[in-house]
Amino acid sequence: MAQHYDVVVVGAGFAGLMAAKTAGEVGLKTALIEMKHDITAQRRADTQMILPMGEDYLDDRILFNSATGLMSFAHNGLSFKYEGPHRNIYAFHLYSVDGNCLRFGIAAEQKKRGDRGRIAIALDKSKAFASLLNQAQAAGVDVFAGTTVKDVKKSNGAVNVIAHDKTFIGTFCIAADGANSRIAQVLGFNKNRGYYSSMNVLGYYMRNLQVPDPDTVYYVIAQYEKTGVITALVPRPYENEHAVVFICLDCRVDLFKFYEYFTRETNLPWFKNAEAKLVNSSCGNMWSTIEKPFKDNVLLVGDTIWCQESENFGALLSGGKAAMAVAYALDEGKPNEAGISSYLEFWDKHFFNSPHYKRDQIMGNYMLGAILNNQEIGYLFSKLNMVLKASIHPYTLFGELGQALGGVVPEIQKEMPQVLAGLGRMQQESPADILRDAASAGFPNR
Ligand SMILES: Cc1cc2nc3c(=O)[nH]c(=O)nc-3n(C[C@H](O)[C@H](O)[C@H](O)COP(=O)(O)OP(=O)(O)OC[C@H]3O[C@@H](n4cnc5c(N)ncnc54)[C@H](O)[C@@H]3O)c2cc1C
Repeated sequence: MAQHYDVVVVGAGFAGLMAAKTAGEVGLKTALIEMKHDITAQRRADTQMILPMGEDYLDDRILFNSATGLMSFAHNGLSFKYEGPHRNIYAFHLYSVDGNCLRFGIAAEQKKRGDRGRIAIALDKSKAFASLLNQAQAAGVDVFAGTTVKDVKKSNGAVNVIAHDKTFIGTFCIAADGANSRIAQVLGFNKNRGYYSSMNVLGYYMRNLQVPDPDTVYYVIAQYEKTGVITALVPRPYENEHAVVFICLDCRVDLFKFYEYFTRETNLPWFKNAEAKLVNSSCGNMWSTIEKPFKDNVLLVGDTIWCQESENFGALLSGGKAAMAVAYALDEGKPNEAGISSYLEFWDKHFFNSPHYKRDQIMGNYMLGAILNNQEIGYLFSKLNMVLKASIHPYTLFGELGQALGGVVPEIQKEMPQVLAGLGRMQQESPADILRDAASAGFPNR
């Protein structure tokens, strides 16, 4: 006989671990199911920052106590204790391959404000997973690693979560199985979602990069084989070490070849003495955002519901909020949609219909490389040589950029009008239109 749980959480990334830990701590009988054998292993590419710091996202604020490791959300008290090293990040600079640079903050200036000047923190995500897992287990959560879920079915008012060799029964299920969610697929969500493309990533750890500042994040936007490739160089919380990822929305692009080109042939002299170790990769589907993340007593959280990514912030917060909604529903004796309505309200008010965030716009930085060539990107960045507000906010950065652009439009119109035409295309055309060709090479799990 399968054991009956209050909630079965599927996926042990940040969203699922936070959901399971929170559910366990408020007294729910909780199972956590993860297909990886070692939950603490960081298998998917991620530059491992918590962002944004010092700014709101989802109408909440993430706080980090550098002395104790307590990470908490200011508006609802959800928290976990991170036991591992961290590094403050103070600025974010976007480069073109010819070395022109657009600066969101200057690290030396931001550092004068201490922790309050940071725009993100870099963690060791394996250690964060270990911390959350320990806290979930201490709260009595049953953990099933090495277990892959293939189906969910509602029957007799409960959810059957069907893995390859076992079935779990929960009054509720929280689906935290990421961007390629099997659960979103089997529940039929993907049938009606827009599919943009599959995001292909190679992830390295590199030592001895000669970047201008050790506490600044660098993104390089390139056009390569007629599409955009982004290289992100993010300090790790270890001396002289960076997480470096190469990201492309067209799976036909050979990122190993791009790596050779990028580290040897561009104007960026950062890689001369670098020691690089390939550590992971990923291929995540970019679906349009889910409007209502609930069906048949399954609540969906984290990357499962966002377009492209929830960010670690959104994964932790949505996981915690979903667990609290389930706890309320069971306490109230309403094991149904009405019971978990606080989660749906959170999603609708603070993201899906929020005036602050334009859904699916997060793809903007990839569009730039798909539309403008390297010379045009370099030219654009050379015109924007003022220092913009220190920030690495995934949804508001492009607004800042738009404002800065305002002042130089007449000059660009005179010198390189095709740049303005390209930026206009980004405004007018849908990402689906711009990415149509790339999408034809992707792997949608519809
Ligand atoms: C290249 C790259 C860099 C990024 N860098 C950052 C960053 O620096 N900061 C930031 O905030 N965000 C970053 N993100 C986004 C961030 O990684 C995600 O938003 C976040 O990890 C989402 O967490 P999650 O728990 O929802 O999903 P995931 O972390 O993907 O976790 C899903 C879990 O479910 C498991 N799973 C999947 N299918 C099944 C199944 N059928 N059965 C059982 N288990 C299953 C997986 O093994 C996995 O452990 C980055 C993303 C990419 C692609």
